[in-house]
Amino acid sequence: MQKEVVIIGSGIAGMSCAIYLIRAGIKPLIIEKDVPGGQLHKANSIENYPGFDKISGPDLAFNIYNQVKKLDVEYLFDEVVDIKKEKNIIIKTRKEQIETKYLVIATGRAPRKLNLEHEEELIGKGISYCALCDGNLYKNKDVVVIGGGNSAILDAIYLASICHKVTIIHRRNNLRAETKLTLDLEKYDNVDIIYNNQVTDYIIENGKLAKVKLKDNTTINADGVFIAIGYEPIANMLKLDSDNNYIIVDSKMHTSIDNVYAIGDAIKKDIYQLITASNEGVICAVDIINKTKNL
Ligand SMILES: Cc1cc2nc3c(=O)[nH]c(=O)nc-3n(C[C@H](O)[C@H](O)[C@H](O)COP(=O)(O)OP(=O)(O)OC[C@H]3O[C@@H](n4cnc5c(N)ncnc54)[C@H](O)[C@@H]3O)c2cc1C
Repeated sequence: MQKEVVIIGSGIAGMSCAIYLIRAGIKPLIIEKDVPGGQLHKANSIENYPGFDKISGPDLAFNIYNQVKKLDVEYLFDEVVDIKKEKNIIIKTRKEQIETKYLVIATGRAPRKLNLEHEEELIGKGISYCALCDGNLYKNKDVVVIGGGNSAILDAIYLASICHKVTIIHRRNNLRAETKLTLDLEKYDNVDIIYNNQVTDYIIENGKLAKVKLKDNTTINADGVFIAIGYEPIANMLKLDSDNNYIIVDSKMHTSIDNVYAIGDAIKKDIYQLITASNEGVICAVDIINKTKNL
């Protein structure tokens, strides 16, 4: 398959880029391994995106996807597993090989794992990286939240409202979350915080996660464990210049390889928000439009 522009990732960054490209007469292919919307599907309520007082992440994802589909943007639902730069750029997905002149990497970032024994096999069956997605599975049960930043405390607040008991385990001696969030957390009397400690093992009983073991050898009941220790950007397949795996781009979203762009949460930047990701999609699209029209 030969394409002029391929966008990997159908989060808000990739979809914003596609909207501007197609309206300028350039038909991109979006490759998406999951459902369009990316991290939007993890956001319960968005209250800082202009035009909406309040909207759920999945609703906003659906609105943007609908807009993109109405513009007739082409989709391939598949996972990109390799990218090579030859004369053009060669993208390998699980099912296809695609050659493109311009590539836009809009792959976002994924939750950081603890990588303890049994973690992989317990994902979705005791271990989760998204309280809003999986919290309901642990209604009236005991859960553990690992982390001490904004995500961990947001998760803990949500879980405290539906679970029997929430235990936060944080490896430092104080939370890093914003004060407003910690004050909200204090309203719940079913939350305990354990400082200066770490989960070392998942204890399985009768084939199910039952407890976690901590560094000091104590154990805590845990029907579910929510890991909220930050995010890792998706692997950098082209060995682009990067910092901590976040792709380094210039002000026009160019990476260190010609005609390869990166936008959204995949790049090194200060603010990881919807509006910044969308903005980068637009800047990148305009640069590609100018290049293809030799402006
Ligand atoms: C719980 C939560 C709440 C948030 N709340 C807000 C908020 O209120 N306001 C705000 O502004 N921001 C919020 N954010 C941040 C915001 O959601 C992100 O900054 C934004 O969604 C990033 O968009 P993106 O397009 O760069 O990446 P993503 O949304 O991560 O999308 C990347 C896409 O790429 C796909 N992909 C990755 N690798 C491959 C591959 N190899 N092949 C094919 N497809 C691939 C993924 O499946 C995904 O769909 C929140 C984030 C979270 C997690």
